[in-house]
Amino acid sequence: MYKRILLKLSGESLMGSKQYGIDEVRLAEYAQQIKQIADMGVQIGIVIGGGNIFRGLSGAGKGFDRVKGDQMGMLATTINALGLSSALNAIGQKARVLTAINMFPIGEQYSKWRAIELMEKGEIAILAGGTGCPYFTTDTGSALRGIEIEADVMLKGTRVDGIYTADPEKDPSATKFDKITYDEIYQKGLKVMDLTATTLCRDNKLPIIVFNMDKMGNLVKVMQGENIGTLVYEK
Ligand code: UDP
Repeated sequence: MYKRILLKLSGESLMGSKQYGIDEVRLAEYAQQIKQIADMGVQIGIVIGGGNIFRGLSGAGKGFDRVKGDQMGMLATTINALGLSSALNAIGQKARVLTAINMFPIGEQYSKWRAIELMEKGEIAILAGGTGCPYFTTDTGSALRGIEIEADVMLKGTRVDGIYTADPEKDPSATKFDKITYDEIYQKGLKVMDLTATTLCRDNKLPIIVFNMDKMGNLVKVMQGENIGTLVYEK
């Protein structure tokens, strides 16, 4: 079993059945799944996206300044981080929001050592604001934080069961990989994460497991080593 993980949650999944914002039911389900593995003794860092609220790139398409749009996106991830920490606290799980950009008292400012200190005490470190820099995504933020906090693996929770030969939501003949190398992702042009995030993981040998976080119980299964998603590794 993994000792320390970095869990990436997509903002978009937090919408659940809604068109925008946070679905409380989905949020509560995520919190339950996370508490289950915290109770198993796993140290957990979480990076959460903001796509359910705002994405800088789509803002730029509507005439926003790109850097300001990305800053709005980073604030969106912070809103989600606060929501998740609140849902975890509500079920008796300690969790703390650490922000990439100083915005005390909304969260403490992130540092690798503070995150590790909290995780070692059994608290969940929710790392908000992505990398803190525009032109990046929270996938890159989670690769970076995963490496920094010396996680054993990055778990990328999505709404599909893993990495497929094509988009399974569009192509019914698509098949799933049980495992795949970073290089195969480039060669096959698979859209798993943006290339910056994939490259960071590859260069620093951080394995990734892509799995469906929206099915209750899946996070525990991944932790128990069940082969329900796709492992990305170096040959
Ligand atoms: N963002 C950013 N820098 C980062 C991480 C995120 O500027 O390091 C902004 C960017 O505008 C992005 C938005 O925050 O579109 C929300 O993050 P993301 O799109 O990764 O969320 P997800 O797709 O996981 O919901």
